[in-house]
Amino acid sequence: MSEFEAVVGLEIHLHLKTQSKMFCGCAADYFGEAPNTRTCPVCLGLPGVLPVVNAQAVEFGILFGLALNCQIAPWTQFHRKSYYYPDMPKNYQISQYDLPIAKDGYLEVEGRRVRIRRIHLEEDAAKSIHPEGAPYSLIDLNRAGAPLIEMVTEPDLRTPEEARSFLVHIRSIAQTLGISDANPEEGKMRADVNVSVRRVGAPLGTKVEIKNLNSFKSVARALEYEIRRQQELLRSGRPVTQATLGWDEAAGKTYVLRLKEEEADYRYFPDPDLPPLVVDEAWLKRLKTAMPELPAEKYARYVRAGVRPYDAEILAYNASLARFFDQALGLYTGNPQTLANLLNAEVAGYLNEQGLEVQATALTPQNLARLAALFERREITNRVLSELLPEVMQGADPVRLVEERGLRAVADEGALRPIVERVVAENPKVVEQVRAGNLKAANALVGPIMRETRGTAKADVVKRMLGEMLGVEL
Ligand code: ADP
Ligand code: ZN
Ligand code: MG
Repeated sequence: MSEFEAVVGLEIHLHLKTQSKMFCGCAADYFGEAPNTRTCPVCLGLPGVLPVVNAQAVEFGILFGLALNCQIAPWTQFHRKSYYYPDMPKNYQISQYDLPIAKDGYLEVEGRRVRIRRIHLEEDAAKSIHPEGAPYSLIDLNRAGAPLIEMVTEPDLRTPEEARSFLVHIRSIAQTLGISDANPEEGKMRADVNVSVRRVGAPLGTKVEIKNLNSFKSVARALEYEIRRQQELLRSGRPVTQATLGWDEAAGKTYVLRLKEEEADYRYFPDPDLPPLVVDEAWLKRLKTAMPELPAEKYARYVRAGVRPYDAEILAYNASLARFFDQALGLYTGNPQTLANLLNAEVAGYLNEQGLEVQATALTPQNLARLAALFERREITNRVLSELLPEVMQGADPVRLVEERGLRAVADEGALRPIVERVVAENPKVVEQVRAGNLKAANALVGPIMRETRGTAKADVVKRMLGEMLGVEL
């Protein structure tokens, strides 16, 4: 295994969250709209129309480039990339060629610096639909002309886990900047994965490209499969054939889409309808000032505040969780780790179960902060915390619930004594076992005490009292 290493480079498309499409005034958000209702003569590619560059898309490209430590082009241009395909009404795509909006950047992921070769702006194609068994295909032009960012990395990644982590970083950066929902499930983030295998230290090997992977999990799985396949070929002295592959999620295998990768001649030339675009210093400066705190900075801030690196990473690289955490943090004076635990364990468990994002629930940062404070001050037990969580997720104020239902933690031995004595008296067999040295058997006494106190008895106090009564160290 270790005599070989994998080499991975990614090409990522992000759907931009602009108001309108890349070169016309049609709504860029056509998700769920009836087919062919978000179109105009420009994105339909009718003769004689003129495209106009979407300034917001350009700003998003610049912001993304700045976040990825790129050089921003002082001036840039759009090219026509010609090819004939039914989903391309003009028979060319307006894209960027030798003057991308940003280039030569990098992103640190898992301690590795991954170089970003380029980031460019382009328009999406329409969507072909092939109804099962029908002798025809349908076309939905709502997507035609939608604004996209394409970014290309250098082949600097080395493992499937690094590739997955890189994608998580990119998604969180795009979401933090607010430039894209970057949601692979909705097709708003797509990755093509290039991978080769070589002996450690050898020059780059022949690569294959795996197309259109639509979840981070499939990226990792496809890479694992493909790396193993290429290693076996190399180990038995056979060459890897350059190819474009697809990924069959159900079978867990890659399959060949195209073998010979003849360099298509796209006849790139500057779009004569779009004048060069100058990015002047003032514009750049304004965008730099507008830069929000990026996930890597958030991570560092959380760790400085005392959050464990493991939790800080989960929160910082999930834009919606981070936003929520920051709001709650502003309302909270306790240990930030308690709040982080609550979000990453209890709340995350609830969200996973319900398939929701935190913003889609009625949980408020205020109520989360209150719950964390109750717990941190030991005013409620673990048990009560878990019991209250579903209601707090649905908007209830935990302080009110605790008051109304008398769920404040009980540490008062005087209050607990009658209950503990009764449970001991009712369970002579268990008591005998505990006295005989079977300390685990004492759990059979703790359970009923917890039930009687509705989970409010502090576990350590109950254990100490039982130990004293039975003459053992619990
Ligand atoms: P092509 O000319 O086939 O398009 P490029 O050099 O333009 O190849 O690179 C396309 C993508 O493939 C980039 O993300 C790059 O990092 C990656 N890549 C290039 N060579 C290799 C290789 N030998 N192994 C893995 N990835 C590679
Ligand atoms: Zn349009
Ligand atoms: Mg290329």
